[in-house]
Amino acid sequence: MRIVVCMKRTASGELNPFDACAYEAALQIPDSEVILLSMGPAKTEEMLSNLTRLGAQGAYLLCDSVFAGADTLATAYVLSLAIKKLSPDLVICGRQTIDGDTAQTGPSLSVAAGLSLITNVMRIKNTEGSLVCETRDLGTQMVDYPALITVERINHLRLPSIRSKKGIVIRWTAKDIGADENRCGMKGSPTKVLASFQNEEGKRKCKFIEAAEIQDAIKQGLEKEKQRLKPMKASTMKLQKVWIVGEAPKTFAESISDDITVIHKADFTNDDGNYREFVERFVEYIKERKPEVILWGSDAWSKAVAPQVAALLQTGLCADCTALETDGEKLFMYRPAFSGNIVAKIVCITKPQMATVRTLETDSADIICALGKGAKHVVRDIQAIVQQKNDLADKDNGPRWDIAASRLAVDAEMLPYDKQIGITGKSVNPPVYIAVGISGAVHHISGMKQSGIVIAINSDKKAPIFDYSDYGIVGNIEDILEGEWL
Ligand SMILES: Cc1cc2nc3c(=O)[nH]c(=O)nc-3n(C[C@H](O)[C@H](O)[C@H](O)COP(=O)(O)OP(=O)(O)OC[C@H]3O[C@@H](n4cnc5c(N)ncnc54)[C@H](O)[C@@H]3O)c2cc1C
Repeated sequence: MRIVVCMKRTASGELNPFDACAYEAALQIPDSEVILLSMGPAKTEEMLSNLTRLGAQGAYLLCDSVFAGADTLATAYVLSLAIKKLSPDLVICGRQTIDGDTAQTGPSLSVAAGLSLITNVMRIKNTEGSLVCETRDLGTQMVDYPALITVERINHLRLPSIRSKKGIVIRWTAKDIGADENRCGMKGSPTKVLASFQNEEGKRKCKFIEAAEIQDAIKQGLEKEKQRLKPMKASTMKLQKVWIVGEAPKTFAESISDDITVIHKADFTNDDGNYREFVERFVEYIKERKPEVILWGSDAWSKAVAPQVAALLQTGLCADCTALETDGEKLFMYRPAFSGNIVAKIVCITKPQMATVRTLETDSADIICALGKGAKHVVRDIQAIVQQKNDLADKDNGPRWDIAASRLAVDAEMLPYDKQIGITGKSVNPPVYIAVGISGAVHHISGMKQSGIVIAINSDKKAPIFDYSDYGIVGNIEDILEGEWL
């Protein structure tokens, strides 16, 4: 089987961690020829050349000044031309890049290159005949080749053996792949960044409490939950013909329009897993009715489908918006970037203007107890407490608990990867989030900052997690458990 692995050298000069997993996943497929593909500046060549030592048969670098400044649509266009030339059976991409952080390139590329798609793959189950993968949120999926999959952080990239040799990296310019320069780079990108600001979102005023008060803090979080879905700040000017896919983006739509149409998935497909049927029928409907704006939720299905719709319509899509504004003509979309350190104000110059918006997921537990490296000696105790609480909840219909982890806790094998919260894990927003022995790195914060009430337990009063918490308990978790406060 011929496999192309798409990879990006991130803004900080490293291989995007999700792409490292994509490469390892490809190397583990027996009897395969693995080819690396990257679009990037000349310095990407060294990274690719080093990576060929791990087993790839070759590497291609798409390098041309006209490729610079591409958004996901323009990136997918350029990559798709190279993929058509390389003609693989399978393309493997990382779920997202950690600097761009949109998770849109893979799904857009599947449309541009004419490949079937499975996103958020946790395990490749079968590659013979058809491709079968287990996904994070959409169960087991099966597609025909040629296919594209995006993978989660499901493995660790192997190290090169001492005797391995570097392979050759072939450079392709726009001319080599027959690219239309108007569809490449900045020129071909319908989304434009207008400005960026320091992101203070997620910061909270922490009240330090005693361990004995933790149950009151939890209770308060559960009661406050009912007030969480507040309307957003509304723009004085309004946009016409705003569509929302499902009810989830409604509060966002109401902040920019009084003319809102709800699109129901079931009107376009009978099958939950069948992206393509929905995509093709919905695109035809959009072309007929010409909405100004289409907003999507942030669930796994929307995040896989919206980029495909955008690619077919050749329009821009802004990922994970946290606020919208309008001057009556343009839609201004605000989204966190660079691990959430900054917020970018983005505009889309094509129609329909599309965005996925950060909505609250309602299917999570009421209380998530997340464990960091500092909780390494108490994993079993906390698991037992969570079990006890849920047994009780079964009897008296009380709040449901779940357990989660920081990345270092997963790396230390305290809990499995599907429990990891953060930029390379998943995002949650329960009414109550209890961070136990978690320092509060930005990578972690980006996955939990939409929670209702945040309670942090940490032995270090200066730990950054307290800046993102409503309540803080300074202390050793072992003492707190001994006191039976949790
Ligand atoms: C590209 C990239 C992606 C990343 N993605 C993620 C991600 O998705 N999710 C994520 O979580 N991280 C991610 N990280 C890692 C992140 O930067 C931090 O290293 C990680 O979150 C720290 O984990 P931690 O808080 O469990 O451990 P530490 O930073 O080691 O903190 C442990 C904390 O426990 C406290 N502590 C120690 N003992 C006790 C005790 N007995 N009782 C109470 N408190 C105690 C300490 O004071 C400390 O604050 C990523 C990093 C990179 C570079």
